[in-house]
Amino acid sequence: MTVLRKREETMRKFTLASVIMATTALTTPAFADDHLKIVDEPLELTIHLHWPRQQGYNENFPVEKAAREMTGIYLKDATAGRNSTDSMEAMNLLIAQGNMPDIVGGHRIRQPVNQYGPEGAFLPLNDLVAEHAPHIQAFWDAHPELQQAITAYDGNYYYIPYLPDGMFGRAWYVRQDWLDKLGLEQPQNVDELHDVLVAFRDGDPNGNGRKDEVPFFAREWEEVIRLVTLWDARSTGSDTFHDFYVTDDGKVVHPYAQDGYRDAMSHIAEWYAEGLIDAEIFTRGSSARDYLLSENLGGMTHDWFASTSGYNAALKDKVEGFDFKPFLPPASVSGVRMEEHRRTPLKPDGWAISYMNEHPVETIKYFDFWFTEEGRNLSNFGVEGETWDMIDGEPIFKPEVLNSDKPVNTQMYEVGAQIYRGYWMDYRYEWQWTDEDAREGIKLYEANDLLVDQFLGVSFNEEEQSVYDKYWPSLYTYMLERQQAWILGSGDIEADWDSYIQTLDKMGYSQVIEVMNSAYQRQYDE
Ligand code: CA
Repeated sequence: MTVLRKREETMRKFTLASVIMATTALTTPAFADDHLKIVDEPLELTIHLHWPRQQGYNENFPVEKAAREMTGIYLKDATAGRNSTDSMEAMNLLIAQGNMPDIVGGHRIRQPVNQYGPEGAFLPLNDLVAEHAPHIQAFWDAHPELQQAITAYDGNYYYIPYLPDGMFGRAWYVRQDWLDKLGLEQPQNVDELHDVLVAFRDGDPNGNGRKDEVPFFAREWEEVIRLVTLWDARSTGSDTFHDFYVTDDGKVVHPYAQDGYRDAMSHIAEWYAEGLIDAEIFTRGSSARDYLLSENLGGMTHDWFASTSGYNAALKDKVEGFDFKPFLPPASVSGVRMEEHRRTPLKPDGWAISYMNEHPVETIKYFDFWFTEEGRNLSNFGVEGETWDMIDGEPIFKPEVLNSDKPVNTQMYEVGAQIYRGYWMDYRYEWQWTDEDAREGIKLYEANDLLVDQFLGVSFNEEEQSVYDKYWPSLYTYMLERQQAWILGSGDIEADWDSYIQTLDKMGYSQVIEVMNSAYQRQYDE
């Protein structure tokens, strides 16, 4: 790669640019309505922005036009790999081509920027932000653990992330009308939960005279693994399924190699055998919730607040008495109520400055613009007066946005808001289109101490990365294969456990754990 050669050259340019910028700043007139202007003359910066909903940056986004007006900076699309929907593939292509745009952003850039940043492909942002980006710096000062989490192995950080807002994502949901019909209360612990699921299976709560109810179902089969939390085990340490987690004594481990997991999984296999869990849990897929609720078959699930509460309105004329209600996580066998899922405070998405950028100071000021009040509103709600108005100091979506048939998030993507630039989400954006049932559920969850700390990931050095890449993919595949087999009843986890653990060791589990922990200690033990 040519990036190492170019680095010194880049650093010279960088110093020069700082000097120029410092001079310009002194001569910029301080007009009140120009307070967000970064440059006097329009400055074009090229951008690679590859993300799930769009492979490229649309220069006609109303949000882009407004940002130009406010800052003087124009983004020009230079996205690599536009014919692939795979952002990692696009990134590899970009790195391989060597000729990089000024800004590199989009989906899942954290790992590549932390790998190639220290090699010289991206600029370290620590000093640039400290000197020129007061709003981003203020965010880090208030959330030092998040800056720590994105820091690469050389101690620098290389991207400004998409930072979600809000705490709760998923919740437990039960057919309250089925409970009422059967004379049952919401289950408060594992035993009561088991009783409710049995009653759903046997009591014909949908009243059709057939034993066709599916007591527990999920759109994502991984939610069945999450039931291990009822027996004090873990299914993941983050908002990503099957992730590592950090133990109480500060060690990174994988949940599927713990004794607690073995015991919990044996209970889940029993529940599956008893017909309490959807027999088609691994195959039904993303339409499970839609199908099982609208056919009046599904009794309980664990899923996102906003979209799951939406079924009450959607099915009120179709399923008589339909009432799908969020309820508190039942207490585990040791009495712990845990909601394992939460919104991550930090995404692997965002944007970085490439080594070829000749305007790093202007670029970091531009990144900082999105953390000002005006920029944050623009990135969250779109253009003021077009999609929202400021009412009593609050950005409020226009009624036509809230009442449109098109989901609000889709409307935002179309105008260039809520896209995967480095920005700080404002939860008020989502709260406005969260219905009353979901709001009540969220308040209920907030009123109880349900959340656990999240594992925010580590940044490997080259050697650690190679160990991880060598062993982890096949370990992961093997663990998931065994997991499904045990639930489906092929094999008995208690009987198989010792040989399973031995196989994990042969496959390099302890090496992976070693590099996870060396990286974790370097990153978080300060
Ligand atoms: Ca029935």
